[in-house]
Amino acid sequence: MKKVVVLTGAGISAESGISTFRDSGGLWEQHRVEDVASIDGWHRNAELVQEFYNQRRKAMLNAEPNEGHRQLVRLEEYYDVHIVTQNVDNLHERAGSKNIIHLHGELTKACSEYNHNYIIDIDGWELKHGTLAPDGGRLRPYIVWFGEAVPMIEPAIDLCEQADIFIVVGTSLNVYPAASLIHYVPPKAECYLVDPNEVVVNRKITTIAEKAGTGVRKVIDLLIDKAITM
Ligand code: NAD
Repeated sequence: MKKVVVLTGAGISAESGISTFRDSGGLWEQHRVEDVASIDGWHRNAELVQEFYNQRRKAMLNAEPNEGHRQLVRLEEYYDVHIVTQNVDNLHERAGSKNIIHLHGELTKACSEYNHNYIIDIDGWELKHGTLAPDGGRLRPYIVWFGEAVPMIEPAIDLCEQADIFIVVGTSLNVYPAASLIHYVPPKAECYLVDPNEVVVNRKITTIAEKAGTGVRKVIDLLIDKAITM
């Protein structure tokens, strides 16, 4: 089976009602990134950070996967599909995708502020401020904040290097190192981009300038047709 790697960003969850970061009306218009998504912000006001992610978690639990997430699942019958997502929501999982790497952490989990490898599942939407891990550190959202290491980038690079087909959905490609993944995809791989707005990519790529709901379906229909006629 050919290997398909799909890099997704906030845009794939937009039609589920989850705000992107950079679009107008996006999250950064309401919050300063340095206050809610950095270790300095956590040390300044951990309660604000907990509340920010509690609200994100609540929104996620009230949201449903959309057509874009669901279409990617269809592909698994014909290809070896791997999703590499920058999203911290769990909509790919809930749609039924099997192989998912979360580059920037997961809203459903918390870790100790002292040891990011001490990870627990959060029950429901609320992580109570001040809850302690067994090592005495406060439990914090299991999210990779700006300026922190991205441990899952290595397995994501390995996947990209093996990709026969690479699909990019709903990411402005502004956040590194995720944005650099496309450079590891072999030159001979077919590349597709689904985004209603312009995204600058320095390689040959087939662009579907549509929202994920309709755009992903077009790419998936095309790839399934190819698999059937091969
Ligand atoms: P971004 O906000 O920088 O870019 C979003 C992209 O999605 C833009 O290119 C935009 O044109 C596109 N888009 C908007 N609506 C769309 C739609 N309906 N269909 C397809 N594309 C659409 O997001 P990013 O590149 O993912 O980077 C931002 C960071 O924010 C990521 O690291 C991510 O962890 C985080 N984030 C995650 C979530 C989530 O988990 N759902 C939500 C907001 C932000």
